[in-house]
Amino acid sequence: MKFTKFLSLILIILTIAIVLFLFKLFRAPSDIQTPTQLHPVVENYQDELIEQAKAKGIDIIITDDFRTIEVQDSLYKRGRTTEGNIVTNVKGGNSYHNYGLAIDFALKLNNGDVIWDLSYDGNNNGEADWMEVVEIAKELGFEWGGDWKSFKDYPHLQMDFGLSIWELKRGKRPEISYE
Ligand SMILES: [Zn+2]
Repeated sequence: MKFTKFLSLILIILTIAIVLFLFKLFRAPSDIQTPTQLHPVVENYQDELIEQAKAKGIDIIITDDFRTIEVQDSLYKRGRTTEGNIVTNVKGGNSYHNYGLAIDFALKLNNGDVIWDLSYDGNNNGEADWMEVVEIAKELGFEWGGDWKSFKDYPHLQMDFGLSIWELKRGKRPEISYE
């Protein structure tokens, strides 16, 4: 009788330990510092993209780069609990923008207009300017949101440095620092 009591006590302690371990494993720690700016490597490739596009006669502008978790949350609400069209399917902390690893681009015309036209051929070479920009971006190492299966995000370009959102949320960062 005494032995079974001892055994059940051990079992209870073990169960508590396992629950605590799993809790710690799956919960993102709250004291992790989130970046506050675009990663310098991404910034370099962004500048390179702008230059290479310009050399092909295509002007682009970067409409968004680093985004705070709060801004991401309000974007997520758009088209859901607030007015407008749905622009994202990721909540705050789940976008590479929140870690300074993503940019959004658009085409800029000579008259100053900014367009999101995927078939516009401003340099008249028979290829859509948008896709020419995407091609350059991919060569530079960007992943394009237009290749995504579930939610196609055509202006979106990101570099993940081999890190998943799950890892970023838990404090993993690219080896090259943000400074
Ligand atoms: Zn984006």
